[in-house]
Amino acid sequence: PFSSSHSHHNSHHHNHHQFTIFDKIIKKEIPAQIVYEDDKCLAFKDVSPQAPVHILLIPKVKDGLTQLQKAEERHKDILGHLMLKVAEIAQQNNLQEGYRVVINDGKLGCQSVYHLHLHILGGTQMGWPPG
Ligand code: C5P
Repeated sequence: PFSSSHSHHNSHHHNHHQFTIFDKIIKKEIPAQIVYEDDKCLAFKDVSPQAPVHILLIPKVKDGLTQLQKAEERHKDILGHLMLKVAEIAQQNNLQEGYRVVINDGKLGCQSVYHLHLHILGGTQMGWPPG
């Protein structure tokens, strides 16, 4: 059962193939304040909001999309779907005057959960640059 090929995985790469906390949210195994859901994606309030409105939008099926830099041709449909749902979710949360959409990618991008997610932030004047 212990293939030597697996011993070369460092923790960085290994983490990217594991389930994340978002899988538990998708399976409703842990509670989340869900604001939008369809067959392909789920949007819920971030537990540690960085703005008055802070929503995370995620694909229900990760399919290797641990982070944006892993995106491939097969992900075009879900990536398009997520982008198109942002405005709908923003409108439902009274963000018509504007908002920020963020994807943190990798260590230097401050990514902490390796399941692709879009941050939708708003409800106040956002600053630039974001830092
Ligand atoms: O872009 P990054 O990977 O850092 O974003 C992960 C986000 O997931 C964080 O904003 C964190 O607060 C949020 N989170 C959450 N619920 C959890 C774990 C993390 O909303 N149970």
